[in-house]
Amino acid sequence: MATKILYIEDNPLNMRLIRKLLKSFGYDMVEAIDGLRGIQMVEAELPYLILVDINLPDIDGLEVTRRLKANPAYAHIPIIALTANAMHGDREMCLEAGCDGYIAKPVVRQELKNTLSYFLESDTPAAAC
Ligand code: MN
Repeated sequence: MATKILYIEDNPLNMRLIRKLLKSFGYDMVEAIDGLRGIQMVEAELPYLILVDINLPDIDGLEVTRRLKANPAYAHIPIIALTANAMHGDREMCLEAGCDGYIAKPVVRQELKNTLSYFLESDTPAAAC
């Protein structure tokens, strides 16, 4: 069974792009189009890793991350923030919220692949960012 990754993203084009990439890497993807649905999907699907957009229509990706990391049942799941806000301080904000990693949009195929491999195929606890 392929490794399941949850992507929380409100933009259909980004969703389609990442779906295509994850499929080509051999991962399974489950999807949510806003933050609260994302948290419900975590409970329902228990993904191995979560990719989260920061700008979401309800609660933002940082708040999604805070809520999941505050729950002992889900705190171990790596969360990688994907954001177009390539502004200074963004990376720090993501890490402060509890994200395990950070990828700036537009997503580069190889960077995504390497980051996922790092978190999913390594035996050592992750601290890449
Ligand atoms: Mn968005």
